[in-house]
Amino acid sequence: MGWQRKILRVNLTEGRCTVEPLNMDWAFAYLGERGLASKYLMEGMDPKADPMGPENLLIFVTGPLTGTMASTSGRYAVVTKGPLTGAIACSNSGGKFGAEFKFAGYDLLIFEGRAANPVYLHLVDDQAELLPADEIWGSSVWDTDAWLKSRHQDSRLKIAAIGVAGERGVRYACIVNDLHRAAGRSGVGAVMGSKNLKAIAVRGTRGVGVKDPKRFMQATRDAKAALRDNRGRQEMTKLGTNAMIDAMQEFGGLPTRNFHAVQFEGVEKINPRAMMRTHVDGHRNLVTNKACFGCTIACGRIAHVDPHHFTIVNHKEYWHASGGLEYETAYAFGPLVGVDDIDALTFAGYLMNEHGMDPISFGGTLAAAMELYEMGVITDADTDGVALRFGNAEALTVMAERTGKFEGFGQILGLGSKRMCEKYGHPELFMGVKGQEFAGYDSRALQGMGLGYATSNRGACHLKHDTFAEDMEDQSGNGKAVPCKESQDRTAMVDSTGVCLFTTSAWGVDEFRAQIDAACEGEWTNERLLEIGERIWNLERQFNLAAGLTAADDTLPKRLLEVPAPGGVAAGKVCELDKMLNEYYQVRGWTDDGRPSNETLARLGL
Ligand code: SF4
Repeated sequence: MGWQRKILRVNLTEGRCTVEPLNMDWAFAYLGERGLASKYLMEGMDPKADPMGPENLLIFVTGPLTGTMASTSGRYAVVTKGPLTGAIACSNSGGKFGAEFKFAGYDLLIFEGRAANPVYLHLVDDQAELLPADEIWGSSVWDTDAWLKSRHQDSRLKIAAIGVAGERGVRYACIVNDLHRAAGRSGVGAVMGSKNLKAIAVRGTRGVGVKDPKRFMQATRDAKAALRDNRGRQEMTKLGTNAMIDAMQEFGGLPTRNFHAVQFEGVEKINPRAMMRTHVDGHRNLVTNKACFGCTIACGRIAHVDPHHFTIVNHKEYWHASGGLEYETAYAFGPLVGVDDIDALTFAGYLMNEHGMDPISFGGTLAAAMELYEMGVITDADTDGVALRFGNAEALTVMAERTGKFEGFGQILGLGSKRMCEKYGHPELFMGVKGQEFAGYDSRALQGMGLGYATSNRGACHLKHDTFAEDMEDQSGNGKAVPCKESQDRTAMVDSTGVCLFTTSAWGVDEFRAQIDAACEGEWTNERLLEIGERIWNLERQFNLAAGLTAADDTLPKRLLEVPAPGGVAAGKVCELDKMLNEYYQVRGWTDDGRPSNETLARLGL
């Protein structure tokens, strides 16, 4: 119950699909989604393998609550070895696709090997077949979605696909499902492209059983009531995640112009109020909000670009509403590159979904390229005349399109900022961890965020821990190790259930335990769930160590460690990583060189 107890294993090299039972010992020890797929990855491949080679596994996975009556239960994850980082990658997405493949009867879809020619998986309940994708190879995500629905005469198909960026190995290519939801980070789309797998089109007609339906319904009702009454959730519904841009601006934690500043003068032009202002054409940017499957939060935004704007005035195909600005997109296309043109930001967001790219890493790479351009290292000869200056809205949209289509300087931007900065002899301009670019929080102002970034198993990431309360209260590195470690474990557990992390504005471990315990066999306590989270964190760490990463990778760029914040509440401060990191290793039960001790591994059954 909760689980479908079935895996579809797809050997792309041999063109063979086989069904196998879910390993229930692993399900009880790792729950689902992030945890369960990490276990399958660890056991199923050599962590040293080339992430773009056929030995890498690409795993789509749901959790025990995916597809149930729990709020936000549309979540699935993609787990693989990431080509941006060389570390374990887990990218989580919403929309409807995850619930649909659970309804088809599977907990995991495991892709191994590499197809000789482009293919897609067509999956309708028990019927799984690999079909030729030559006609859609080279197509955008959006065109692929339309082609597959037409080819199979089924508008109810749910589709996850890559664009040209994924086909051509853009290191931060993502997998887009339901047109504008994405398993976004670490380049999982490039792994899919390396396997010659263009898309998965799925229809499922089965339900998801739970252990105690009456108790489960009560638990989900109670949890939904907690969300309904929660102030943070109410703000998220009304303003979307972009509400964070005002908070970070006020605090002085908003990375601006490749982290040279921590506040952005143009924030009023791109914040939630700007999204609601009426354009000269009578429209406003924000059309409506939107929910993923089963979600009672609806943080998603649907937006409209002014048809007179330079980006689309001659492109009628974009005169429709589509996915609007989330905080990370607004940050990465706004302050980070110095652009305050809301239509340009929104259009660049469309391009990310259309071509399948992670906006955070694209924005981070473009910001580094702009710094190199302003230093004179990159010139007009490299960019075909596009002035890559901070604040140039046209540079943002032109380069987003060129990268998505893998044309011209877009091929260089497709390397990601670490590789690009090394290529031009300035590795110090890369702003990220383990090869992955930072999200929209400056760790001189948010010290616990700095520790979370440095130790995140998938490279710089804001979604794998939560020390906001501690960071808002105190701008030193004191006392951050314990909340960082505890929230990392809690988040790993939440990421393995099948519901959205944004529920944690209202839900503590109690709400998760009540729902899991009513849905899944066995007895579930808060302690057991938190231990699962800790086990997952340590398993991911074990994968990374086996892949060749070391404690030296748990670091931050010098710009955050040595250059004081130029303003905001942390003016004059640097990130105190060394102090936090030593304490963190001790709290984790790791050795001084960042390895889980034998006692820790034994305690967690690893
Ligand atoms: S809170 Fe937002 S991201 Fe999470 S499931 Fe709901 S709409 Fe999707």
